[in-house]
Amino acid sequence: MLIKNVGKLVGVRDDEKLCLKGREMAELKTIDNAWMFVENGRIEAFGSVDSMPSTEGETVDAEGGYVFPSFCDSHTHIVYAGSREGEFVDKIRGLSYAEIARRGGGILNSADRLHDLSEDELYEQAMRRVREIVQKGTGAVEIKSGYGLNTADELKMLRVIRRIKQTAPLKVVATFLGAHAVSREYAGRQDEYVDLVVNEMLPEVAREGLADFVDVFCDEGFFTLEETARILQTGLKYGLRGKIHGQELADSGGVEVAVENAALSVDHLESMTERDIELLKKAPLSSPEGDTNVQNKGNEASSGAVWGALIPTALPGTSFFLNMPFAPGRRIIDAGLPLAVASDYNPGSTPSGDMKFVVSLACIKMRLLPAEAINAATVNSAAAMDLSREYGSIRRGNVANFFITEPLSSVDFLPYAYTTPVIRRVFLRGEEQ
Ligand SMILES: [Zn+2]
Repeated sequence: MLIKNVGKLVGVRDDEKLCLKGREMAELKTIDNAWMFVENGRIEAFGSVDSMPSTEGETVDAEGGYVFPSFCDSHTHIVYAGSREGEFVDKIRGLSYAEIARRGGGILNSADRLHDLSEDELYEQAMRRVREIVQKGTGAVEIKSGYGLNTADELKMLRVIRRIKQTAPLKVVATFLGAHAVSREYAGRQDEYVDLVVNEMLPEVAREGLADFVDVFCDEGFFTLEETARILQTGLKYGLRGKIHGQELADSGGVEVAVENAALSVDHLESMTERDIELLKKAPLSSPEGDTNVQNKGNEASSGAVWGALIPTALPGTSFFLNMPFAPGRRIIDAGLPLAVASDYNPGSTPSGDMKFVVSLACIKMRLLPAEAINAATVNSAAAMDLSREYGSIRRGNVANFFITEPLSSVDFLPYAYTTPVIRRVFLRGEEQ
């Protein structure tokens, strides 16, 4: 399939870098008046119009629109039951996220609803959200468990995620987040709940091969540094690297524990400090040049994980929705570090998976340049799922996940026109959606 009349081909790469950091993030390579050739669901070739091959096969006319690599969304909770607009109104009335959690709302509220829903119903609800984000340009997504909070319901969620993996056109990775909150049943017995996660949930999840990563909500009022380290270490034994919720509500050491336990990403970071920046800079695992200087602390068999990288990940949609401070994205990039952005799509704190809006927020609220924000939402968020070898850029051999926009005046128009639906056509694995 030949895509012709491409006004601009965006996010073109020919290097082998697994993610971009510091100044590299402002480099977004493009080709004007371009074409792209897709075969067997992969990007075969591309170039400018003077080198366009002739073809007898299928042709797609981009009509002067831009072609972008699909967004990669490395942090979501889109398998959930129902919605929580009641709490949305509570927040407008002045209750904080922590207060709502203390009143037994929040995550526990979602756990109750999920418990009552069948696997089929849960799948149907989640697929509606999957179809929505596909149309909004997302081509790879991470989905977490964490609304089960007992072994059976966590496994139920992960089986739903597996079914989405098998049936949805976009790439899906699964993260086990048993330590999202302490269930009502274990209220006041957090130690025993962590024992359950470590001794029962994780072995079962690993036995069924249901997760690619393990996550812990390491924050004030949730799980401690020691508990987080214990869960991450157990995860590594089973070949599951960590993706941490850290430094959101308080300065609670999430970055430190991520660095010390070879996590792949540390997400949220709204409350991160200069000390965290220094830790990330000094971390032996924070130079994502490739796999060579690898300190493999875990299981080699975890399918070529990006052992060299720890990707700080900002979730600006959450800060927007909760009226919280934003992660210091500008500071992270200026320190020479990589930065990814993701949606955090979930029923409580971010009921949106619109990555174009996330890119706009990264520009408006975190002072990222459009090129930096687009790289953060494509190649770097692919890296935060260990997918950047095949996703997140227009590169020969990559999976042909991309979208075509209406003709734009420049790449910068995408985040600038922050609610204009510029995406016209979406292709995943080379198939139009
Ligand atoms: Zn989250």
